[in-house]
Amino acid sequence: MATLRLDALSKTYPNGFTALHGVDLAIDDGELIVVVGPSGCGKSTLLRMLAGLESISGGELAIDGRRVNDLEPAERDIAMVFQNYALYPHMSVADNMGYALKNRGVPKAARRRKVEKTARLIGLEDLLDRRPRQLSGGQRQRVAMGRAIVREPKVFLFDEPLSNLDAKLRVQMRIEIRRLQKRLGVTAVYVTHDQVEAMTLADRLVVMNGGRIEQVGTPMHLYERPASRFVAGFIGSPAMNFLDARLDGDGLTLPCGARLALPSEPERVADGEAVCLGVRPEHLAVVSEGGAGDGVLSVRVELVEPLGADTLVHARLDGQDDLVVARIDGIQPVAEGDSLILRPDTDRLHLFDPDSGQRLDDLEPECQHSTSPA
Ligand code: ATP
Repeated sequence: MATLRLDALSKTYPNGFTALHGVDLAIDDGELIVVVGPSGCGKSTLLRMLAGLESISGGELAIDGRRVNDLEPAERDIAMVFQNYALYPHMSVADNMGYALKNRGVPKAARRRKVEKTARLIGLEDLLDRRPRQLSGGQRQRVAMGRAIVREPKVFLFDEPLSNLDAKLRVQMRIEIRRLQKRLGVTAVYVTHDQVEAMTLADRLVVMNGGRIEQVGTPMHLYERPASRFVAGFIGSPAMNFLDARLDGDGLTLPCGARLALPSEPERVADGEAVCLGVRPEHLAVVSEGGAGDGVLSVRVELVEPLGADTLVHARLDGQDDLVVARIDGIQPVAEGDSLILRPDTDRLHLFDPDSGQRLDDLEPECQHSTSPA
């Protein structure tokens, strides 16, 4: 059980490239933090710095209030679960799981007891005598988890632990990791590329971009109040639609001639000013009638993707190059070339500065720290 504090943490590699530019983050005891961001944004660098596998160039890292910048990995009481499992091929499951305890000089009988207890916790009790090559991918991942749990570390670090598993197993393991992490009450930092994994696992999500934190908050907070266009485009699938618009009294005018009423006038935009309008695909509904100026968008369908539970409709705004995606409930009788009228839910529009990308409408203070529910 531990808290983590990152204070202006930065990393410059020996070749002079700065991969992290002063990251601040406070992680609560027992919290599961998921770090997401595009390739190269510094997620692995950050995780490796927490683990002690990468030196810290500037700032401070504290575990339970104690500075650990210069401690060796073994001294930090942190366990890392890797994407490639990193199991010893010549050792049995039991020996893989008990290896760290052996190194610590824990006597054989005590080691066996701990390994067996952990194996029961994660459903490996019948596989303890097998070698890693005699296991499925999911079972190997379980051993890697077991090896981390046995050590009873203060902090778990996960580096894309499920990316080698098939879709069904990923879902199972995701649920299991969440259950185990909460049951053990251990603080965890989890890096992933997978949107759904990030949204479903995280107590709080950290969105990174170019070596900086763009926003920190609960998954729902980031979905509903993204602080920037970058976060808005990164959280949610399919991604949010972005359209040029101009503030026009109590509403917005789009280049296609559509006019959308706004629930309240954004404080930080002057009348007539250009804005970037964000609309999530699930907040566009197909309606049977309406015209320009009526709070609706006239579009022509370019592609229909039926997903079963819902249908993705890719369409072009009339007379414009802009493409929008609408996510419509159920299987829809819509075909390529059809003309449709889409009504955006005006209570759920997002406005961003077209230059800086920052959110314009009633921005809430960033949720850097929360006592989010388990
Ligand atoms: P991915 O999602 O692709 O794994 P990431 O977000 O984990 O990416 P990092 O691996 O942390 O990104 O890399 C961040 C940046 O630092 C990248 O631009 C990368 O090229 C650079 N980088 C990583 N390791 C080194 C190194 N040893 N020397 C110099 N630059 C490095």
